[in-house]
Amino acid sequence: MKITFPHMGTTYIPVKMMLDELEVEVVLPPKSNKKTLELGTKYSPEGICVPFKIITGNIIEGIEQGADTVFMLTGCGPCRFGIFHALQNEIIRDMGYEVEFITADRFSNYQGLKEFVDQLKEASSSNHYIKILKTIRKGLKLLNEVDVLHDLGNKIRPKEINKGEVDYLFSHYENEIRKSYGYIEMMEITKSYQEKIKNVSINKSRDCLKVGIVGEIYTIIENYINFNIERKLGNMGVEVIRTTSATEFVREQLDFIPFIRSEKKKIYQAASLYLDIPIGGHAINTIGNIIRGVHNEYDGFVHLLPFTCMPEIVALSILPTIEKEQNVPIMSLVLDEMTGEAGYMTRLEAFVDLIQRRRELKNEGKSFSWY
Ligand code: SF4
Repeated sequence: MKITFPHMGTTYIPVKMMLDELEVEVVLPPKSNKKTLELGTKYSPEGICVPFKIITGNIIEGIEQGADTVFMLTGCGPCRFGIFHALQNEIIRDMGYEVEFITADRFSNYQGLKEFVDQLKEASSSNHYIKILKTIRKGLKLLNEVDVLHDLGNKIRPKEINKGEVDYLFSHYENEIRKSYGYIEMMEITKSYQEKIKNVSINKSRDCLKVGIVGEIYTIIENYINFNIERKLGNMGVEVIRTTSATEFVREQLDFIPFIRSEKKKIYQAASLYLDIPIGGHAINTIGNIIRGVHNEYDGFVHLLPFTCMPEIVALSILPTIEKEQNVPIMSLVLDEMTGEAGYMTRLEAFVDLIQRRRELKNEGKSFSWY
């Protein structure tokens, strides 16, 4: 069995590690790129959200490189994610490929977790259940360390003295991690790069603007589709806070297990003034994380959403009220395969200029209404 799976930011690192540990042959598709998006767009329904298109492109590229099995997460709920695998299976068969799809529900209860373990067992029948459970635990630990590394990068980048040092380290990290195998090696590499980033020379006195990135999780985490927004803002001297991470996403699914804690309750509580039930996707997280960020005095928020994303369109309609009532700047960026980088940069630069001016006025003790 040769397994491929789609990318979502750096989540491929723990997923590949788990399959390595279970001695399953992995075909890692190339990092998402222009060709991936073109391939996915060509074979996907026109009006579907862009995560579907890129993921379809990843799957096709994995199959073209020799994979005979596709591993996909799925899940029910009022969002298209639940039907991704079924639609992609149809598309792949129509293209003439004979591949098997292994799907696992979002393991948000004991039954779902058991099904996930069973799917891993199916992919690696020689492994005992205990080994599979231990491997999942290792996967969670590595996922967390990779997110810690990213958060460190976002904190250090706007203050670095030698411009580009953090980006240089990240590109080396990705090269090394793609060539590595198994838990011990991948964990060592990740920890060593955390140390390297901590040792980057910084200007400690620099008072950086703080911007929270909120919105649909795929567009927050996948750098190709968001034009590397964290890097762009960081290089403009802005400290970026990624309000949603893959680790938090997994914790939110698994927090029915007593020793796993997520921020879900706090996020829902914060959102409740404007949206009091989850409506699918990450809409409630968008609202809740903005309110939490307001309490933490962030200077502004960038809201990322894919064109035609149903849950985020609902969140988008609530944002003008929040801007007005909380007096906070929020800029929404709609992303799809037609989004141009130049226009995107212009909007980001203008937004940063505005919040910088707002901060200066605030420091001078002048009030400044955003709305
Ligand atoms: S949250 Fe939106 S963009 Fe993401 S899968 Fe669901 S509909 Fe698509």
